[in-house]
Amino acid sequence: MPTKRYAIKEMFYTLQGEGFHAGKAAVFCRFSGCNLWSGKESARSTAACRFCDTDFVGVDGTFGGRYTATELVAQLLRVWKGNDTPMVVFTGGEPLLQLDTALVEQCKSNGIYVAVETNGTKPAPKGVDWICLSPKPRSTIVLTQASELKLVYPQPEPDLHPDQFADFDAQYWYLQPLFNEHIQENRDKTVAYCLKHPQWRLSLQMQKVLGVR
Ligand code: SF4
Repeated sequence: MPTKRYAIKEMFYTLQGEGFHAGKAAVFCRFSGCNLWSGKESARSTAACRFCDTDFVGVDGTFGGRYTATELVAQLLRVWKGNDTPMVVFTGGEPLLQLDTALVEQCKSNGIYVAVETNGTKPAPKGVDWICLSPKPRSTIVLTQASELKLVYPQPEPDLHPDQFADFDAQYWYLQPLFNEHIQENRDKTVAYCLKHPQWRLSLQMQKVLGVR
């Protein structure tokens, strides 16, 4: 059987901008591809997820390519610049289309803290340290628990509302203002919702506030 290769759009070292780990240094590893949108603008209006602002198509970004688990972990450790436990955030696209036990184990045996940002439509392999579930419209969530649940608010789509996720098995619940031309209004609505429902915490996209990647 040929050795499995993971399709990676890009990798970069930065500060996590959102949610529980906001402000923490991490290598972001963006998998290519998503199951809720092809990434083509011509297909956006008919996709399940329609407000995506991420380029996850192909393998042509910084350190993009097709890696074996061993090659990928070696590259992740080269991109990491910290002097402490390396943290990798697997994102996408949808990382759980590709992330598997073999890659998680390869990370763990190299001392990497493994975090994932997922739409929740695929099961997670064992051993992931931190799962951030970000529900999307017109999709079925199969994950039954998460470390944090992060929901964009107000939802641009009618079928998702924070009330639906108040009982989800998570440690933390975050509401993140929808970033569009109404961002100030969206922030005000998000703050008001968090004030009324303290289960939910405000998550700001620090990378957009600060203008960094
Ligand atoms: S699920 Fe995530 S990566 Fe996929 S289209 Fe939606 S926002 Fe983009």
